[in-house]
Amino acid sequence: DKMRPNGQRAICMAIANFKGGVSKTTSAMVLAQGLSLRGHRVLAIDIDPQGSLTTLHGVLPETEVTEEMTISSLCHGTSNDITPAIRSTYWDGIDLVAAAPFLFSAEFALPARQMSDSSVRFWDVLNQGLEPVRDLYDLIIIDTPPSLSYVTINGLWAADGVVVPVPPSGLDFASSAQFWSLLADLGANLDQQDPEGAQKTFDFLHILLSRVDHTDAASPAVRQWIQATYGEFVLPVEIPKTSVTSNKAAEFATVYDIQKYDGSAKTYKRAADAYDRFVDLVEESVVEAWRGR
Ligand code: ADP
Ligand code: MG
Repeated sequence: DKMRPNGQRAICMAIANFKGGVSKTTSAMVLAQGLSLRGHRVLAIDIDPQGSLTTLHGVLPETEVTEEMTISSLCHGTSNDITPAIRSTYWDGIDLVAAAPFLFSAEFALPARQMSDSSVRFWDVLNQGLEPVRDLYDLIIIDTPPSLSYVTINGLWAADGVVVPVPPSGLDFASSAQFWSLLADLGANLDQQDPEGAQKTFDFLHILLSRVDHTDAASPAVRQWIQATYGEFVLPVEIPKTSVTSNKAAEFATVYDIQKYDGSAKTYKRAADAYDRFVDLVEESVVEAWRGR
């Protein structure tokens, strides 16, 4: 049975890479949709001030998002429960915590809070705020900003698993490799600051080959290099670079939106099949994590 076993809590995953444009937000959206189509209740959390995941949900960060709809009050310490920030979306089975540009102020609020209150750990604020909802959802998916900010560290610290999208182009890979080693050190670094705190370990860490361009002569070489370096961590799937993902994003639509609302999915079978495989693989990791608890 792939559903959340009785008494088990939500598995939280962060989609992260401090490089921009690598398909983090697109992957977070199709993962949320794909997992909800498989019967899981999903909470999608946008912690990127650019609010791209929010936009994909049809909510405009510049005009339609207030502080109460975001993680802002958690970061500023006016609330320690994320519940009031959650709203339903057009997509049955996905609830959303939105983001907007004002979230940049969280970068200053988080360390300031720790300075004024020694019981606050600046990296643990989101994790604590999620406590009350971990029984209400099967999966929590956090879309992170393209930087190793305090807010990103909160997303990673709250996560049980991480998906790192990496397009197989040389420069993207080089910067993703830096991110990967930071990720590996994250637990150790924060543990040093808080020796009595819990050790950070992840149930799963996956590299997703994203935006794979079969016309790019360098791709196969870089792909092999990624496989050789990170073998077991690389998911056995490639998300092709397709016009459906780039063009339809302008209409805030993913492959799953097209399947659900437009019926022309056959045209996009290659992309849809790859995303389905990706969602299946992540679901397997989630089920394994539940079993291992
Ligand atoms: P990030 O969140 O890492 O910045 P996005 O998911 O916003 O990345 O993707 C960056 C851009 O690339 C967007 O315009 C998106 O529509 C496009 N894109 C993402 N994945 C693909 C893909 N598989 N094929 C084509 N375009 C893609
Ligand atoms: Mg993004």
